[in-house]
Amino acid sequence: MLNETHDPALTSWVASANTGLSDFPIQNLPFAVFRRQGTDEVFRGGVAIGDQIVDMAALLKVSQRHAEWLTGPAHPADQADKVDKVDQTPRELAGLQLNIQMALQMNLQMALQAAAQNTLNDLMALGPVAIRALRLALSRALRSGAAQQAALQPCLVPQAEAEFAVPARIGDYTDFYTSVHHATNIGKQFRPDQPLLPNYKWVPIGYHGRASSIGVSGQTFRRPWGQTLSPGAPDPVLAPCKKLDIELELGIFVGQSNAQGEAVDMTEAEDHVFGICLLNDWSARDIQGWEYQPLGPFLSKNFATTVSPWVVTMEALAPFRVPFSRPPQDPPPLAYLDSPHNQQAGAFDIQLQVGLQTAGMRAAGQAEATICRTSYRHAYWTVAQMVTHHTVNGCNLQAGDLLGSGTLSGPTLDQAGALIELTTGGKHPLNLPNGEQRTWLEDGDRVVLRGWCAREGAVRIGFGECAGAVLPARTVKAA
Ligand code: MN
Repeated sequence: MLNETHDPALTSWVASANTGLSDFPIQNLPFAVFRRQGTDEVFRGGVAIGDQIVDMAALLKVSQRHAEWLTGPAHPADQADKVDKVDQTPRELAGLQLNIQMALQMNLQMALQAAAQNTLNDLMALGPVAIRALRLALSRALRSGAAQQAALQPCLVPQAEAEFAVPARIGDYTDFYTSVHHATNIGKQFRPDQPLLPNYKWVPIGYHGRASSIGVSGQTFRRPWGQTLSPGAPDPVLAPCKKLDIELELGIFVGQSNAQGEAVDMTEAEDHVFGICLLNDWSARDIQGWEYQPLGPFLSKNFATTVSPWVVTMEALAPFRVPFSRPPQDPPPLAYLDSPHNQQAGAFDIQLQVGLQTAGMRAAGQAEATICRTSYRHAYWTVAQMVTHHTVNGCNLQAGDLLGSGTLSGPTLDQAGALIELTTGGKHPLNLPNGEQRTWLEDGDRVVLRGWCAREGAVRIGFGECAGAVLPARTVKAA
């Protein structure tokens, strides 16, 4: 599954990509939608390299002048299924290679045109072959010593000068609940007698969220109003949320769609995924506690959701796959949610971290305090299982749809991805390094999610950051 784009020895002529500290070395090449800050330029796709962005619209123009900017053989994954299968004469083989090369050029042109648009939906819709072709061409063109350096140099925009948009036009957003640790911790608080409902280990639980309020990193939102029932109070009241929380999640962008009525099985599920971003599912726990039964979360979740601008492709994550397993006493997944590949390598070791910066810390010039560290490897259901389960009834996922992983709490309390767990339902406030305490989020608080992958023998790649801040609730006009 690894190929030349993952080679840890690769370096880029963009020197900032080679420090070992950048989230965006040449082995990553994630996609975003951006423009220069403070301009009325159109948004377009971009690919991160070091502290720069390769402007896909500019690159499309360059590629029309320099048709040769792609060099070298086609992607090994796309050659393998055409060559080596049957006895082929050298002449047939040469013809096949030429066909593959022409197909690669076509895929590359399609992918580049799609990546230059103001959302990534068209690129996502193309599916893995075209996206791999673009990644391979970018990897070759950005390598140290590449002949394309002079042509590509003018396509670079510094990330520090960019502003970002939500990467796709998100048609539908589904939030899952894939951490058994989160489900157990939060279940204890809402239902002490039965924390984990009996369906949890059989069904990847989810609910349909709202796409309109999803914003990109840098998003600010007003503390939501809502209906809550205080313990012991006779009646609910309408008031600003008092228990505002975060949820540390990953967002999974759907790639090529499936037709309505057709299920995507486990062996094909990841071909329907474009890539992964960071996601903060801001949550109003007091509103949630009163409204969530019997149909699940509603206004406690849909006032704001923040995603990172950068989407890391499934191919870039390949070196960081890990086996997916269940505790031996747990039931194995039903057959439609199981596959040898899912068991061997269906999970991803993505390191995750939550930082909190209060207004006081910001005024004093202090960086955010880390309140949680965990890894995506602890999830109870994989990306492939989410896609397969979502489509098993014939539901059609579409390019640019977003799946949330659910809060990714790890097995211990300091690995919990939400304040409701970190403070045990508000009973034990967090002590921040500057002496402040937090039970729930206060106005002016800024939360930053970060994610990265690192292991021996691979170059570390990162997700950038996903930041958002809480503004005071809107005031109600006097009656
Ligand atoms: Mn959530």
